[in-house]
Amino acid sequence: MDAAPWWLLILAPFVLFALGWVAARIDIGHLLSESRALPSSYFKGLNYLVNEQPDRAIDAFIEVVKVDPETIDLHFALGNLFRRRGETERAIRMHQNLLSRLDLPEEQRSHALFELGQDYLKAGLLDRAEESFSQLEETGYSVDARRHLLEIFQIEKEWQKAIEAAVELQQIGAGSNQVRIAQFYCELAQSAINESRLGDAKAALEAALAANRKSVRALILLGDIAVRESRDEDAIGFWKRIEQQSPAHVALVAERMMEAFRRLDQFAEGLMLLRSYLDTTPSIDLLEAVLKATTEANGAEVANQLALDALHRSPSLLALSQYLDTRAELAEPSERANLEVVRNLIHNHTRRIGRYTCGNCGFKARQFHWQCPGCSSWESYPPLRSEELDLQTN
Ligand SMILES: [Zn+2]
Repeated sequence: MDAAPWWLLILAPFVLFALGWVAARIDIGHLLSESRALPSSYFKGLNYLVNEQPDRAIDAFIEVVKVDPETIDLHFALGNLFRRRGETERAIRMHQNLLSRLDLPEEQRSHALFELGQDYLKAGLLDRAEESFSQLEETGYSVDARRHLLEIFQIEKEWQKAIEAAVELQQIGAGSNQVRIAQFYCELAQSAINESRLGDAKAALEAALAANRKSVRALILLGDIAVRESRDEDAIGFWKRIEQQSPAHVALVAERMMEAFRRLDQFAEGLMLLRSYLDTTPSIDLLEAVLKATTEANGAEVANQLALDALHRSPSLLALSQYLDTRAELAEPSERANLEVVRNLIHNHTRRIGRYTCGNCGFKARQFHWQCPGCSSWESYPPLRSEELDLQTN
């Protein structure tokens, strides 16, 4: 492209300035013509806002809306602004004031109620938020209100209500909630198990599988119940099904599975099964369970060789740590002290890289979670340690 002529480069800033000046004139003129129609408390309110006196500004704007209903949008804008800044008390005052007006049109009443619900939610006043959103069922805000209700029920751990809200949302075509519904049933089942209501727990888990037939968590819990009822064979049956749903999740039940096999006097058979899983879907958690069972069944030397093979196949600090653990079992007392130093060094490091990581927000946790404590997403944790994930993605 040719360069612009020199005179154009010199003139350009002046032309732009002139255009800006004209535009500003037009805007100011337009504003002035509009402002003549506005009551004086509007300007008082603006003045207070500019001078960082929000409470006085609110009083002034409440006056405005009494005189001039056209300024309702201003109320909503300010209420939103306060809520976004975390000044929920002020936002609540703005929206409550709107709702107290008897002449408020139906559509704007719903809008104010919806905003008020969000203010309460942000302020952590869950009961009041629930009450506000519940009143919006037959309005244009019903879908969004129900989404907020679903959020509230989850925070309150009201799983039955959460299920109902999620099903309703699905029925009105607001996306699939099957994965979450299954998780809510699993939450119900988990509480029932904790209270030894095993019949209720089983019913909830059947419902979980009906909602999401790939629910790994439901299979894990069904296995746990079977163990409590001394039905180890059934427990193993449920846990074996996990491999078809999601092979990586088998690692979560590997230890429990070996315990069940032990009680059935089928320890060797169990170990063979676990080793076949390790071949097809290697993971650190699975390796740990296999090494532990191998040490018990075949001795430390076999376990050490297995750990060395695993380390060669996929080198990682976590695998090295496992190897050192099995090596320590075999070491002479003189060598053991040296090994101990190395092990401690590695362990300090693996504590950090051996955590589970939320795929949604990156929140790291020592324990595996079905719902992320950071962002509340469901099933966002892959059943792999962070180092494994990093090695997979690099
Ligand atoms: Zn998260």
